[in-house]
Amino acid sequence: MNSAEIITIGDELLIGQTVDTNSAWISMQLSMRGIRVNRITSISDRRDEIISALDEALRRVSLVLVTGGLGPTSDDITKETLAEYFGSQLVMNEEVLAEVTERITRRNLEMNENNRRQALVPECCRVLLNRAGTAPGMLFEKNSKKVISMPGVPSEMKYIMQEHVLPMVTGMAGDTTIIHRNIMTYGTFEAKLAERLEEFERELPAVIKLAYLPSHGVIKLRLTGTGGNARQLGLMMDGQIRKLYTIIPDVIYGEGEITLEEKVGSLLLNKNLTVSTAESCTGGKIASLITSVPGSSAWFKGSVVAYDNSIKTGMLGVDPEIIRKQGAVSEETAAAMASGVRRLTGTDFAVAVTGIAGPTGGTPEKPVGTVWIAIASGRGIITEKQRFADDRLINISRSAHSALNLLRKQIISY
Ligand code: AMP
Ligand code: MG
Repeated sequence: MNSAEIITIGDELLIGQTVDTNSAWISMQLSMRGIRVNRITSISDRRDEIISALDEALRRVSLVLVTGGLGPTSDDITKETLAEYFGSQLVMNEEVLAEVTERITRRNLEMNENNRRQALVPECCRVLLNRAGTAPGMLFEKNSKKVISMPGVPSEMKYIMQEHVLPMVTGMAGDTTIIHRNIMTYGTFEAKLAERLEEFERELPAVIKLAYLPSHGVIKLRLTGTGGNARQLGLMMDGQIRKLYTIIPDVIYGEGEITLEEKVGSLLLNKNLTVSTAESCTGGKIASLITSVPGSSAWFKGSVVAYDNSIKTGMLGVDPEIIRKQGAVSEETAAAMASGVRRLTGTDFAVAVTGIAGPTGGTPEKPVGTVWIAIASGRGIITEKQRFADDRLINISRSAHSALNLLRKQIISY
């Protein structure tokens, strides 16, 4: 048994009120154990939907994990439907009743009919006790296929998974090993990267798959290897990763789940260097990213959010003539901001960003999304112009990440 399906039940999932985090968590747990999730289905609290989703899933796989619809109120009908589906009756389970009674009375509450109903379970199921809540999990087996029903509340679902389900499914995948390896890239876009990796993808061994996962300009390349021998597969993946470094060395910044700010932090720490920022359009976003990394006080000194020109000239010492002639969004202003904040803070590196985040303020020569980045260090100042999109928050995020990436490259060659 090395593939499974997940069915999440709840009207709230289909009207966008609750994000289905359960299936993401379950998928990760299963895939770490070599069980492939074949399909995730979200359905409403309706008998016919539940029955047809179970029918379809059981036609494809022999392990189906279900969450949701186990509450004591009348809108939750999963338990009744499962009893019907497996041709069983609801019976009072004394062990569950004792658990529920204990939970309720411990909180100085009175047991009511709804609480008692939680202890009713289909006669044919095996109860998976839920010590994180009152709705028990249930395991149904038929024709060597398994259906496991769990509450929708994430903490209760996780309890039942960890306590009962994961120990049971570990080893079910047989000898199949699944290895995920992430290569983090920045400074390109998905279509371009895919073009550069066309031949690499074509030559990938059949047991290794490549996925592109973009977010804020960072593109995570995830290699997934599936095979019998863990050591052999690991070596094969190492080989493919070495190959990636030869094809796209300019855009890879790390491996694993590392962010740009973490990478910058570790580079600065290793070289015992410091940084400060002068931020106009990013409003402190770069400083915020840098300081989100634990230990950042070792490499980060401070920031000047120089939003208004008076702060650029007054605090950072940008020559008013530069702003008057070249504009606040210009290479010269960015460079002067960087050297200004470096002078103020005495850091090895200083990062400055000035741009037009939008939605207003663009001109034909400097449209919304135009951003100048400057990095000052003992070796002088380097600058970079970027042209992002029309969305304000995306522009701010992309500006901050681009600045971090430029800083990263400067630290490496320092
Ligand atoms: P239920 O077992 O249907 O009573 O679910 C109780 C609560 O769990 C719901 O009100 C949701 O807030 C939450 N929930 C249900 N399904 C999910 C899911 N797939 N992902 C995350 N939360 C969920
Ligand atoms: Mg529900």
